[in-house]
Amino acid sequence: MASLTQRFARLAPYFRRSRTGLGVAMLASLVGAATEPMVPALLQPLLDKGFAGRGFPLWWVPLAFVTLFAVRGFAGFVAQYALSSAANRGVLELRRAMFSHLVRAEPSLFSRQSASQLTNTLVYEAQQGTQQLVSSILVLVKDSLTLVALLVYLLWLNWMLTLMVAVLFPAIAFVMRTLGKRLHRLSVAGQASTDELAYVVEENVLAWRIVRLHGAEEEQQNRLDGAADRLRRLSLKSTVAAATMTPLTQLLSAIVLSSVITLALWQSTSDGTTVGSFVAFITAMLMLVAPVKHLSDVMAPITRGLASLERGTQLIDEVPAESGGVHRTERARGLIEFVGVGLSYQADQAPALEDVHLRIEAGEIVALVGPSGAGKSSLVHLLPRFMEPSSGSLLLDGVPLRDWDLPGLRRQFALVSQDVVLFNDSIAANVALGDRIDRVRVEDALRGAHLLDFVNGLPQGIDSLVGHNGNQLSGGQRQRVAIARALYKDAPILILDEATSALDTESERAVQAALDDLMRGRTTVVIAHRLSTIEHADRVVALENGRVAESGTHAELLARGGLYARLHAMQFRS
Ligand code: ADP
Repeated sequence: MASLTQRFARLAPYFRRSRTGLGVAMLASLVGAATEPMVPALLQPLLDKGFAGRGFPLWWVPLAFVTLFAVRGFAGFVAQYALSSAANRGVLELRRAMFSHLVRAEPSLFSRQSASQLTNTLVYEAQQGTQQLVSSILVLVKDSLTLVALLVYLLWLNWMLTLMVAVLFPAIAFVMRTLGKRLHRLSVAGQASTDELAYVVEENVLAWRIVRLHGAEEEQQNRLDGAADRLRRLSLKSTVAAATMTPLTQLLSAIVLSSVITLALWQSTSDGTTVGSFVAFITAMLMLVAPVKHLSDVMAPITRGLASLERGTQLIDEVPAESGGVHRTERARGLIEFVGVGLSYQADQAPALEDVHLRIEAGEIVALVGPSGAGKSSLVHLLPRFMEPSSGSLLLDGVPLRDWDLPGLRRQFALVSQDVVLFNDSIAANVALGDRIDRVRVEDALRGAHLLDFVNGLPQGIDSLVGHNGNQLSGGQRQRVAIARALYKDAPILILDEATSALDTESERAVQAALDDLMRGRTTVVIAHRLSTIEHADRVVALENGRVAESGTHAELLARGGLYARLHAMQFRS
């Protein structure tokens, strides 16, 4: 594992703009720490002169103490404020960087990490981690400085006693280190277990129908029991480790204290240590305990905080950003070629696509058909480079896809898929997604999608909000928003993943009419489930086990009596 310094260095860039805040906080902590030895330092003359009645002005006591605590309080406030501002700036930078990577990372990111894991890392862990880290660092700085200030004062006061204290310190440090490491290991394992627990719950909330239908309640309960129990055992271990730390540190401190008292008493008989200086020493000594205790506790939140933030930086480091080439064309003609394309998701699985050769002419409408798992979705996902082929190559207008400038390439495609994704924003913003909102064009697109009348009937028209993932809209309306989005984008190539679930006849007709408008004049690759789509396609390509089994017009393939004829007989018998 990387050293602590390396781990902090990795996070440093996100805290670059927090430097002023951190600097001010350190400075204020320094002032605060400097006031610490002044309490015992005030006690000494007070006891030796004041109570001994040797001309000590009375007003001097409250003035000194009140001033001291006023300075310390102010320094404390400034330190906290500056630190909080630094922390919030850090969270902001970290979230920006993580999100910026999230929207640009290679798509493999999304198969490695679940949505809830990514959300958790970006939203919650960034905040908690930073808070923990930054406040622990303040403790670290403040209490180390206090420790140093007190030690300097102690040395000046009585070096022999102090040296004895100093010899006993490494023991405390050793305990801190050992337990700190163990806590770190446990906290990493604990976070992983919490995630696991969250998946089980989330999956069961999302998929409750399937679970009940299959009578998998018991099985799911066992999964939860396992995860919850692992978490329980880990938290217990964590508690044991954390709870051992405090008493152990205190015990060690007590040993130090009793040794000091013994030595001081022995000294007082030989060199006449005054009551004042002894009380000052003991007070300063006792004041050491608090920072030592804080410092021994500080490793846990630091390691926890680091672990949280590192999940964010790992996200950035492990998955590189997407990259493309330099070829740019304002508008592609739309000629697509698959040359010996193969695709494997996992090494131990049969490839999803194998040796696919397919040429789709500009303006052609190609219907992809085939049994489920034949590779239809995989094939279309290769086009906007949502995935990379494992072998072979894909060309658009004769230029390999990887030579295309990536945003430029994606501008050439519009996608209407069966699971319509809508953002919780206005209809206009959803239609113009990624582009400037031109209200006239938005209305044109909605008209083309046979949705304008409905939208105009809404109280706020095209500015109406659609709700989370469009929950204010019906299934057919959502699909037509997606079609309007494609019309607005006006890309030369259309990828269509027809809905398998039936809409009501009214919506079905509206959606079909909208799709017919949309396909006109574009190269269209459609994963087809409707007979009408297939009949209107220029060509039908039947896939089976990741290979192109047949290709030809609907009539040709029917006449051939092969895979397509069989599929057709099964699906469209009625
Ligand atoms: P279709 O769209 O024709 O139903 P897919 O392209 O979805 O077929 O799937 C083709 C094959 O690839 C299937 O065997 C499927 O199990 C596999 N596959 C699809 N997506 C993934 C994925 N994300 N990870 C692993 N395997 C996948």
